[in-house]
Amino acid sequence: MAVTERRAGSIDVESVRADFPILGRTPHGKKLVYLDSANTSQKPRQVIDTVSEYYREHNANLYRAVYELAEEATAMFETARLKLAAFIGAPDPTTVVFNRGTTESINLVANGWGRRFLKEGDEVLLTDMEHHSNIVPWQLVANATGAVLRYLPLTEEGSLDLTNLESLITERTKVLAVTGQSNVLGTLPPLKELASAAHAVGAVVVVDGAQLVPHNPVDVVDLGIDFLTISGHKMLGPTASGGLYGRRELLDAMDPFLGGGEMIMEVFPDHSTYKEPPHKFEAGTMNIAQEIGLAAAIDYLESLGMDAVREHEKQLTAYAIGRLEDAGAVVHGPKDVEVRGGAVSFWYRDIHPHDLAQVLDQEGVCVRASHHCAQILMRHLGVPATTRASFYVYNTTEDVDALVDALARAEAVFA
Ligand code: PLP
Repeated sequence: MAVTERRAGSIDVESVRADFPILGRTPHGKKLVYLDSANTSQKPRQVIDTVSEYYREHNANLYRAVYELAEEATAMFETARLKLAAFIGAPDPTTVVFNRGTTESINLVANGWGRRFLKEGDEVLLTDMEHHSNIVPWQLVANATGAVLRYLPLTEEGSLDLTNLESLITERTKVLAVTGQSNVLGTLPPLKELASAAHAVGAVVVVDGAQLVPHNPVDVVDLGIDFLTISGHKMLGPTASGGLYGRRELLDAMDPFLGGGEMIMEVFPDHSTYKEPPHKFEAGTMNIAQEIGLAAAIDYLESLGMDAVREHEKQLTAYAIGRLEDAGAVVHGPKDVEVRGGAVSFWYRDIHPHDLAQVLDQEGVCVRASHHCAQILMRHLGVPATTRASFYVYNTTEDVDALVDALARAEAVFA
């Protein structure tokens, strides 16, 4: 395929690909076709080099010492916080808490806010397409507080069914916790509409941003989000990077989640006083190199432009859905790329996704085959698992073609 055809959106995919050393790998002697970015993204050399340089030149623990290295490490870490805050439209960096990502962030909100404010009979509204990390922490807190979990249903197509929204969002609703973009179907729920319905009854809006933030321009104030989770490893950053945005009044009012060094003001035998947010939620030695690497990932994404990232993925997703359906695959989720992102789950012929993924692997094609930590959604779809191809800035239509060619090979194997 000609280089010009490999450009999608306004991203120069050729030069992006040159930044990702791992794309030069040849698993099983085949060109690597990485279609598992919804699971974790690959990292550009700018991120790898930043982490390496941090360890070579600046490594020290934060805040604790008055020497040059520690001051440099602290400045780099706090600059990363400023960058992440600006990236998601947070009004002020003190509203951004660093941690290992979405799972830890939802546990923080469920424990720090939920255990403090939820009472018996209060309702937490989730949806049928949530990742387990936006279900299980709420179940644990509901068990402890007597709160009740309710679920927004899905349409046949895999969008949220909002026809009975008024009966589900009521005075009893204290939390609406919803994914910003489904990791299985790609569905983009109407966050603004949901947030205003939740705010109308005084509920707090928690958005699982694991798949939203890497792939879309996000402004927490414009969307009306009270808590947003960020998974750095899915947005070109290191594993165990990311964090939580929280509206400052909420962060002030809630309890810490982890206790320990650095989050305290004073410790007495029977109680302690805590620092102001975000430090109140950052106990112990932090993931310093990871968050500094995440700042480099944010620089990288901003150099491409998040509108261009979204446009690139819309084009690839439309192309992939068309090619997969032509090849006889059943594609789950909405087909309109205006309301979905680039995680494309499908069922191919009668081949179990695990068997299919193994054959694809032999062709160098990396996809995920599983319930994708979304068993409630799998039951809705009536399947035990799906095969999922997911796209990012380094993927091309050639990658989609390689996937479809590999499917044909799988069909020959299982015929
Ligand atoms: N939520 C969604 C929608 C996800 O796709 C994932 C990861 O796959 C998670 C939560 C968990 O995120 P993390 O790995 O940052 O804990």
